[in-house]
Amino acid sequence: MSSTPAINQNPPDSPNARRYNRIRRWIGIIDFILGLVVLTVLLGTGWSGNLRDLAYQGAFQNYTLAVFLYVLMLLVLGKVLGLGLDYYGFRLERRFQLSNQRLRAWAADEAKGFLVSLVIATILAELLYFIIRQFPEHWWVLAWFGFLVVTILLAQLAPVLLFPIFYKFEPLQNEELKARLIRLGERAGTRVRGVYKWQLSEKSKKANAALTGLGNTRRIILADTLIDNYSAEEIEAVLAHELGHHVHKHILKGIAVQAGVTFVGFWAVNWVLQYASDRWHIFEQLSDFANLPLVVLTFVVLSFILMPAMNAFSRYNEREADRYAFENIATVDPFISSMNKLAQQNMAERTPSRWVEWWFHSHPAIARRVAAAEAWAKANS
Ligand SMILES: [Zn+2]
Repeated sequence: MSSTPAINQNPPDSPNARRYNRIRRWIGIIDFILGLVVLTVLLGTGWSGNLRDLAYQGAFQNYTLAVFLYVLMLLVLGKVLGLGLDYYGFRLERRFQLSNQRLRAWAADEAKGFLVSLVIATILAELLYFIIRQFPEHWWVLAWFGFLVVTILLAQLAPVLLFPIFYKFEPLQNEELKARLIRLGERAGTRVRGVYKWQLSEKSKKANAALTGLGNTRRIILADTLIDNYSAEEIEAVLAHELGHHVHKHILKGIAVQAGVTFVGFWAVNWVLQYASDRWHIFEQLSDFANLPLVVLTFVVLSFILMPAMNAFSRYNEREADRYAFENIATVDPFISSMNKLAQQNMAERTPSRWVEWWFHSHPAIARRVAAAEAWAKANS
């Protein structure tokens, strides 16, 4: 489709939905600025060097252990400073009746999330500084390759290793839905290895679905909040959309784009670190892990600059998956009604402002997706 379909303004977004989404955006923006400030202060004041010295002391001068302690201190600092905002985000979901999660369960999730990020950050940092020490000349190309391998591994392991830490999953038992999915898959000449019921209702009232994993962990996950409240035709439309992601290889394409971005990222980090040692005379050695905030800062700034482009890429994929759904379900009506239900249930803005959609949204606005479905039906009737 070349031209953008006109958006139907009916029904307009409620003031409540507008407020909820505005607050959530601000939480994201403040969180981002807070991160920038913390990293900059650590570098500008030289406190990063103090933390490094402390880490060496605690590690009895062992480099590898010191890297771990440094990462630990950095993450604890970030968590403590960001805790107020995280708590506010938790209260927000409850205030707008989008969650009934208790404080205790939320705190347990936060603790688990912290441990998971500690494990991943430790692996990445140890790998990075190991490569820097072993191959000081071409470290950035090798580090990029190492990160790519870790990204692919994580994408593959996430559905079986990471997601189950936070949610329960079980194979979908509904025979009718399974039969519909098999028919959809046969028509596409493809096969998805599994559909799993995702117990989201314990934590949220929102509904969601996704295609996850790589290779033998590739699966569609459907929230129980969706299975319990949507008709078989509506769920089929959602499944067809997810199958569209599978058929168009969106996960693989996403990883390829990510690989390109991190390649530029590591090149930029190398440049910035060289500059820091030549001009500012800090971090004379690349292997001085007190430069980690500078590494992170470079990636944060790069991803901020690329955010609109990455979101545009994602929205393109979403439109492609939607189109796949239109072509493979009997009529677009259940697709449209599932979209409207999702908007209602998740308090999504159906018609966000153009720049908000352009900058922040990984999915096209719901009103736009509905309009595209209507236009498709009109053109193909
Ligand atoms: Zn999608």
